[in-house]
Amino acid sequence: MATATVDAARALDKAVSGEAMGSQAAYATLRDLCDTFGHRFAGSPGERGAATFLLERLRAYGLEGVTAESFRYTGWVRGSESLDVLEPLHVRMRALALPYCPAGEVEAELRWVGDGEADDYAAAGAAQGALRGAIVMSAAETAGRGAGRASSHRREKYMRAVTAGAAAYLYVNQNPGDMPVTGGLPGGGKGPAPIPGLGLTFETGEQLRRWQERSTVRLRLSVTASFPEVESSNIYADLPADSASPSAQELVVAGGHYDSHDISPGALDNGAGTVITLEAARVLASIARERGRGFARRLRFCFFAAEEIGLLGSWEYVRRHREELDRVRFMLNLDTSGRGFPGNEALVLTGIPELLPYYAGATEQMGYPVEVRNRFSSASDHFPFAMNGVPTGGIGQTQLAASALNGLVGRGWGHTPADTLDKANPKSLQSAATVTARLLLHTAQAEDWPAHHRAPEQVEQQLADAGMLEALKLSGRWPPPR
Ligand SMILES: [Zn+2]
Repeated sequence: MATATVDAARALDKAVSGEAMGSQAAYATLRDLCDTFGHRFAGSPGERGAATFLLERLRAYGLEGVTAESFRYTGWVRGSESLDVLEPLHVRMRALALPYCPAGEVEAELRWVGDGEADDYAAAGAAQGALRGAIVMSAAETAGRGAGRASSHRREKYMRAVTAGAAAYLYVNQNPGDMPVTGGLPGGGKGPAPIPGLGLTFETGEQLRRWQERSTVRLRLSVTASFPEVESSNIYADLPADSASPSAQELVVAGGHYDSHDISPGALDNGAGTVITLEAARVLASIARERGRGFARRLRFCFFAAEEIGLLGSWEYVRRHREELDRVRFMLNLDTSGRGFPGNEALVLTGIPELLPYYAGATEQMGYPVEVRNRFSSASDHFPFAMNGVPTGGIGQTQLAASALNGLVGRGWGHTPADTLDKANPKSLQSAATVTARLLLHTAQAEDWPAHHRAPEQVEQQLADAGMLEALKLSGRWPPPR
C-alpha cells in the first residue's frame, strides 16, 4: 500500500478506537436491557420488548434499513417442576425443567453416567439395556477431567440417554454455588422433547451421586409446561458502503443473539454480545458520519432471536437472505463476548485456517495483538452461516482466561440464575466493543483478503475434520435445511 493509504487507514482506526474507548455506552445499555425487560426467553414479552428497544437504538444511532423480520414457531413456557427423592430418604431437591421438556411425571431409579460421553454410556451398559426405564444423570460440562477428552454438547448427552431407553435425564452443573443449570433440549421450536430433562445444581448432583454409590436411589420428577404458538423477530440494520467503493455490494456481518434463558436476564449470555454489537454499530456509524461516507463494504449489524432453543433466528436469517450469502465477506459472531477482564478478547475462527496469520498480523499492526484460534463449533449463530460456506468467527476469550475464568468451567454463570448484571465488567465490555469495532473496520476496508467461501463438499470436510459430521447426520442436521 502507498504511504498515504496506510496513513489514512491508521487515522481511521484511531478515530474508531478513540470513539469506542471514550464511551461507557455498552455497560449503560446492558443495564437498561437487563433492568427493563427481565429475561428475554424466545417468544416471551421480554424478548419482544428488547426487540423494540434495539430498533429504537439503531434508528437513534443513524443506521439505515432498520428491520425486524418475524417468524412463528412452537414456543415453550415453563410451568412448575419438582424433583423428589423417595429412597434412601425423603427430600425435595432443587431442579429446573430444561426448555422443551415435556410435561409429565416419572418415578424411577437413578443411574449416574459420569460425564455422559459415549464411553461413559458404554461403561454404564447402555447398549445392554442397563439404563432402560431409568433416570439417567450426567455432568453438564466435560471440563477439567483429562485433557483431550471429547466434550459433547448437552443435546448429544441427552440423546444418548434417549437412545438408551431412559425415562428421564438429569444434567448437573459442574460449578459449585447452588446454581441449577439450564439449556434447550432437542425439539426447540417444534414441540416436546422425547423425554423429560432437568438441570440440577452441582451440590444436588454430588449428593445424588454419593447416595447412589451406597444404595438404591429412587426419584420422582414432575413437570408442567405449555407449548403455545409464538412469534420472534430478528433485528438488523446497515451502515451502507461508500457508494464510490468498487466493493460496495459486499457485506461484513456482525452480531449475536439477544434472547436469553428464562431464569435470569442473561447479562453475559447474551446481553453482553448484544450491547457490544450495538456499540460497534454506534461507533462505526458515528465515524462514517464524520467522514461523510461509509466504508469500502456494507456493514450489517444483526440481533438474532430464539438462539437458546436451537439457533432458530439465525437459521431463519440465512434462509431469507440466502441469495446474499455469497457477498458476505465475513460473519463475526458475538456471543458471551466481553467476559472476564479487559484484554481477554480472542478471535475464534470457525475452520478458516487462512485467516489465522491474517488476523494475527492485522491486530499486531493495530498495536493490540489479539489471540487468534481456529475451532469449528456448532453451538451459536455463526453456525448457519458456516454451514452455508461463509467464513465466520467470533469474539471469545483467550485460552488462559477461559480456563481460569473466575475458577468456573464451561459457561460459568451462563445458563444459570446467576447470569445477572453484577457479573458484567464495564471495562471488559468497553474493551471488547473496541476490538470488535476495529476488527469490523479492518475487515470492511481491507483490500487483501485471503479467505474464501466453502462449497458444500468443503463444509462437509470441515465438519468431518472437526469430528462433528456423524452426529449432525444422525440428528438430521446435515445436509443443512434449505
Ligand atoms: Zn449465547
